[in-house]
Amino acid sequence: MPDIRGVVELARRNGVALGHFNIADLVLLKGVLSAAKELQVPVIVGASEGERQFMGVRQLAAHVRSLREESDLPVFLNADHTHTLDSAMEAAKAGFDSVVFDASALPFEQNARQTKQAVGALKAVNPSIVVEGEIGNIGTGSEIHELATDLSQYLTTPEEAKQFVAYTGVDVLAPAVGNMHGMSQKMVEGETKKRLDIRRISEISTTTGVPLTLHGGSGTDDEDLRQAIAAGVSIVHINTELRVAWRNGLEAGLGAQAHQVVPYKILPFAVESVKQVALERLRLFNHLGHVAAGRKTA
Ligand SMILES: [Zn+2]
Repeated sequence: MPDIRGVVELARRNGVALGHFNIADLVLLKGVLSAAKELQVPVIVGASEGERQFMGVRQLAAHVRSLREESDLPVFLNADHTHTLDSAMEAAKAGFDSVVFDASALPFEQNARQTKQAVGALKAVNPSIVVEGEIGNIGTGSEIHELATDLSQYLTTPEEAKQFVAYTGVDVLAPAVGNMHGMSQKMVEGETKKRLDIRRISEISTTTGVPLTLHGGSGTDDEDLRQAIAAGVSIVHINTELRVAWRNGLEAGLGAQAHQVVPYKILPFAVESVKQVALERLRLFNHLGHVAAGRKTA
């Protein structure tokens, strides 16, 4: 089984990106993995501190490990948005393949200092762990927001990105390049799309020399995503779109069977709904085109 570092590097070289999908339960995990399996592409499943608290850090790691052993598909587990060193260490010790150490709410110097410390501590636990750092502000909460906040003044500059990567030693950088966590209601309805600063991505990729992660990918213009991947984004995070699909699928499962109480007859609706979103995104990130017959490709 290839390791996450090799797979991310390969994606970067091939001009494709790994899909990173957040999971908070078995429904999301099954939906994402069955999409990856169908397309035979590697995938990253991620869990934020809240998602990990709900599923259990070690339980989640054990679950993903057992799935990985059973299939020949590279599936990696990421500790998403980890705000303290303790919680990062807990994930590393449980066997997570990568950690997003997120001190981006702090001033730049403090963020850099804490991230550097985290890189050292995490690599002492597992030398091959991939550590991602964050700079700039892309908002919080992978949910539906009333309004899309204007975050344009917090975009990452190529100079600070270069300085941050060189100082901290992170393997992967998550910049603010027009992306944003969560979606507005208009984005959920497909009326508006997030737009990315492609030139900025390209400059950050060139000056840092490390793979980039795009957080808050939900609701982003497809063409912008393609260009962002060509410009150096090697991992794209999708969470809110999956959560919307999870809820819609669950409602469909309940609505279709008024008196049903058997979970494994209701939840497959949600698994399928999540899978469809993951399929669409994975096709886009891996340049696989929209080949499934009779399905909408919007
Ligand atoms: Zn994120």
